[in-house]
Amino acid sequence: MPSAAIFKTTLDLLYYSGASAALGPAFAGSGAIFMLHHVFPGGGFAPGFAPNRGLEITPDFLDQVIGMLKARGFDLVNLDEAARRLNGGGRRFAVFTLDDGYRDNLVHAQPVFARHGCPYTVYVAPAIADGTCELWWRGLELAIARNNRVEAAIGGEKLVLPCASDAEKWQAWHRLYWPVRLLEQHEQRRWISSFCGNHGIDLMALCREAAMTWDEIRQISRDPLCTIGAHTVNHFNVKALRPDEAFDELDLSARRIAEETGKRPQHFAFPYGDETSAGPRDFDLARKAGYATAVTTRKGMLFPAHKDHLTALPRFSLAGEYQNIRYVETLLSGLPFALLNRFKPLNVGE
Ligand SMILES: [Zn+2]
Repeated sequence: MPSAAIFKTTLDLLYYSGASAALGPAFAGSGAIFMLHHVFPGGGFAPGFAPNRGLEITPDFLDQVIGMLKARGFDLVNLDEAARRLNGGGRRFAVFTLDDGYRDNLVHAQPVFARHGCPYTVYVAPAIADGTCELWWRGLELAIARNNRVEAAIGGEKLVLPCASDAEKWQAWHRLYWPVRLLEQHEQRRWISSFCGNHGIDLMALCREAAMTWDEIRQISRDPLCTIGAHTVNHFNVKALRPDEAFDELDLSARRIAEETGKRPQHFAFPYGDETSAGPRDFDLARKAGYATAVTTRKGMLFPAHKDHLTALPRFSLAGEYQNIRYVETLLSGLPFALLNRFKPLNVGE
């Protein structure tokens, strides 16, 4: 994608100009929370049409990143310790988080964390663990990947999109992704169920195949390095929900996880997590639901000022297309995020 290419060029420029090394310390903050989704061999390297490959990395890359952090003197800590350190003191720290609760976390990521003694948090959405959640972004990808054309009625328009070539598949994806993402949440799930049904994709099978079962969640939760967090019940965009429903998604996910694992989660991740999916109202609701911290996908490093915004923490995505240790080192300088956030340490508004 062009924007990814421009971002990579910017990272290269910052790295080779030495700007990140020279200016970095002012923006580097106290630490960083890394965000991962899928971890498996080959993750992020699928060729051609693979729009969700940004959600994947390889176990080797995870191993390299942890090794680099240790070599640079970062402490690897859990979210409780991170929250304490925002009050000042201690070395720079890094926190690892994985969203959605995919089986590859247990199979491929857990052994890497174990080898390094590195704490990590898995944010579980009960409907995903039940195998009943419409993972619409995966369903949309598969329907386009496996068909030579797709038909879709959305936004009052009836579309027939050719998708025989990779180029056409990317076009169809870009035409549909945001309109589907922005649908009212219940409508979105009806839409994707019918779209997948019409294009030969078994959405529920997709979820069951990708997700850890509750037995597997109990298994990973017994790892002393693992913290289980919550991620709503249905992987809904919290900001798009009425306040009562938004609160229920925050609260009921914690209750269900407590029933299944014996421990109520203290930490939460907003699904999607950008400005369109979590705002100040939702940061308040997370506090009211009793969470000690909540993370977003707003990009940034952690600064002491975040101690007053513990339910609106930024993260640092380890994404498939940036699996280059040099990019991670440049990002850790904080300078790219400082540019992005116009040099303000906090990005917790609308
Ligand atoms: Zn998620």
